[in-house]
Amino acid sequence: MLKATNLRKEYGSLVAVNDVDFEIETGEFATIVGPSGCGKTTMLRMIGGHLEPSGGTLELDGRDITYTEPQERPTSLVFQSWALFPHMTVRENVEFPIEARGENANGRVDELLEQVRLDPDVYADKKATELSGGQKQRVALARSLAYDPDILLLDEPLASLDYVLQKRLQRELADLNDELGMTFIYVTHSLESALIMSDRLFVIDEGEILQEGSPEEIYRQPNNKFIAEFMGDANVFPISVEGRDGETVHVSSPSFEGSANVPYSSKVDVEPDHLVVRHDDCIVEPELTRAMGMPVTIVNILNHGNTALVEIEDDESGEEYVAEMPVDRVHELGLAQGDDAVLQWEANKAIPVPE
Ligand code: ATP
Repeated sequence: MLKATNLRKEYGSLVAVNDVDFEIETGEFATIVGPSGCGKTTMLRMIGGHLEPSGGTLELDGRDITYTEPQERPTSLVFQSWALFPHMTVRENVEFPIEARGENANGRVDELLEQVRLDPDVYADKKATELSGGQKQRVALARSLAYDPDILLLDEPLASLDYVLQKRLQRELADLNDELGMTFIYVTHSLESALIMSDRLFVIDEGEILQEGSPEEIYRQPNNKFIAEFMGDANVFPISVEGRDGETVHVSSPSFEGSANVPYSSKVDVEPDHLVVRHDDCIVEPELTRAMGMPVTIVNILNHGNTALVEIEDDESGEEYVAEMPVDRVHELGLAQGDDAVLQWEANKAIPVPE
């Protein structure tokens, strides 16, 4: 287990990582996710020993590694920029860490290339410069694995690849994590990657961990408005709390027709002032048929494969919101731009959150 206690990094007066505590279990696929500049790379580089913390400790299986040199700790970093040796072949690139340890690379390179889904017969003797971006990324991954690390650190390694390739490599990385039983710590600002691959997410902003949990937990029970919005595809409505009954709060808003009871996470002990409802948990119908809803005007309908994004304007506040509905349902209801309708949702799909 990797354990950070009060881990801190200051750059002059800027606090890039602010006394964070976290534990990552052996074999876990943990993702540090947050907006640009929030301190993700700084955290990763401290874990890898490439950056000295300003305070706090890092322990691996009970051993203090806070100030251990990178080459002395069982971590290996895959860079976004791949950092392959361009004049070397694929084989030479992957062999490098093995030979640097004074070991014989015989057979190991082929095994590593197969693990990253590159056929050694086709690719081993190619120069790094002869490869596509996706192939370079696979070689970079094989070379990082050649260090035989306990923890693989990945810094936005897929950022520059096209969307389809990114999706494929995301699935492959998740499979590789299962196959190898190695701890993966992945850094990204892309929520989509984080949701697909991870066992556990750490959402960070301004150097602090705002929430940790499974992707499902954070998606379904964000701790605050920032996380809800960062997780994407959500309508966030301002609300007032009229009363509270255990884990249920009674909320109202000028736009909702009355108030309704909603489940309330006992983890949040701050009064909620926003209600989050995911786009695909919202529907637009001519009349109110669900627990909560607001009168709206349809502004636009965008077809998005099997689903349609119905953009609406709240008649009360003028704010725009979105419902993602099956295209067939939109046709069935005969929804069209300019129609008066009701944006609505079931009570158990609404998540009350504080600012
Ligand atoms: P991105 O997603 O854009 O890569 P990030 O979340 O990885 O961002 P970091 O690179 O960890 O963010 O940077 C965190 C903060 O520390 C930023 O405000 C950044 O400007 C600052 N920072 C990073 N490296 C240095 C440095 N060497 N000197 C001074 N400030 C730095």
